[in-house]
Amino acid sequence: MTDSDSSNPIRLARRAERMNASVIREILKLAERPDLISMAGGLPSPHSFPIDAVREATAQVLRDTPQAALQYASSEGFGPLREWVAADLGRQGMRIDPSQVLITTGSQQGLDLLGKVLIDAGSLVAVEAPTYLGALQAFAPGEPCFASVACDEGGPIAERLGEAAGARFLYLLPNFQNPGGRCLDEPRRDAVVAAARRAGLPLIEDNPYGELWYDEPPPAPLAARWPQGTIYLGSFSKVLAPGLRVGYLVAPPAVYPKLLQAKQAADLHTPSLNQRIVHQVVRDGLLDRHLPSVRERYRAGRDAMGAALARHMPPGCRWLTPRGGMFFWIELPPGCDALALLPRAVERGVAYVPGEAFFADKPQKNCLRLSFVTVDAGQIEAGVAALAGVIDEALATTGRRLQRAAA
Ligand code: PMP
Repeated sequence: MTDSDSSNPIRLARRAERMNASVIREILKLAERPDLISMAGGLPSPHSFPIDAVREATAQVLRDTPQAALQYASSEGFGPLREWVAADLGRQGMRIDPSQVLITTGSQQGLDLLGKVLIDAGSLVAVEAPTYLGALQAFAPGEPCFASVACDEGGPIAERLGEAAGARFLYLLPNFQNPGGRCLDEPRRDAVVAAARRAGLPLIEDNPYGELWYDEPPPAPLAARWPQGTIYLGSFSKVLAPGLRVGYLVAPPAVYPKLLQAKQAADLHTPSLNQRIVHQVVRDGLLDRHLPSVRERYRAGRDAMGAALARHMPPGCRWLTPRGGMFFWIELPPGCDALALLPRAVERGVAYVPGEAFFADKPQKNCLRLSFVTVDAGQIEAGVAALAGVIDEALATTGRRLQRAAA
């Protein structure tokens, strides 16, 4: 918008310029055809929602505590739910007090609050390459300078973390990363935490996928190793249902009050009814009964996609089999541009997310993300075959172009 645009007197803040409509979302909107096999979504499978349990919990909350459930409540969150979160994280090796738990409206809100409280214009913010796009969107309005830390297939390279010294924090996803799928093993966790401590580099540990493991549970969180220097984010979105919008963060006592003030300004509190429903559902151990079936469903999707990729993808494409989470991350041969190929793939009835949006700087164009949890095994097979066909054609064209250039 310019000053000369006299029909519109509304002037945007500078930070609004950092909020961009994602090109990818725009393309994928075009792709909302019923016949399209979309492996692009970041959504959990709706078949994984414990609908009966949520229905019963809702009825019970409205029967037992209707007025409290419908009234304003404290910004910290529903006390019994904060206690449950603290106890649950205690079982994973984190020793925390419930007073350190802030219930958030999804963990996405936790990212937004952290951006507000920790980032000044020009602050250095360190992230993995690739990293979660939604975190980049949450942090960007604070006008940071993003720096990607060097990563290999095992996660951030500890020996290189010193390069991020001076950053406000390193944001990372140790468990079944979105989009990369990989999980930091125990030695890497120890090494990353030791290097971050040495560099005085605080950590933001985002863990929405830790319970979605298909082979073995992941090692203890980074926050268990460095509680004073780590802010931990969790969510009920992937283990119960994202529409409830209930997540949480765990912060050291020194920063908690500021995050609480930011939360008050953002939305006063997360909906009381939803918090109580979540608490009602988890307090009687539903997750222990429910999660095995979610893992079984998602493991089958992972295995189907792994087999389809092995069968169809052209030589030169690389991927790691994720041991949890929802995504395969595929690297195409150098020179293959996943964003440029998307319209052709959509024409052939298949959609994915091009990888470049997941990089804070130096976007890598030859990669893409596929979800294995939202389409069934038959569609996975057909979708991967169609995608492989599109990549094959692109490689053949590039090969011909190179031959011509060499001739
Ligand atoms: N972090 C990561 C890595 C995610 O993938 C997501 C959702 N896709 C979120 C945070 C936000 O989840 P929610 O707000 O639903 O808890």
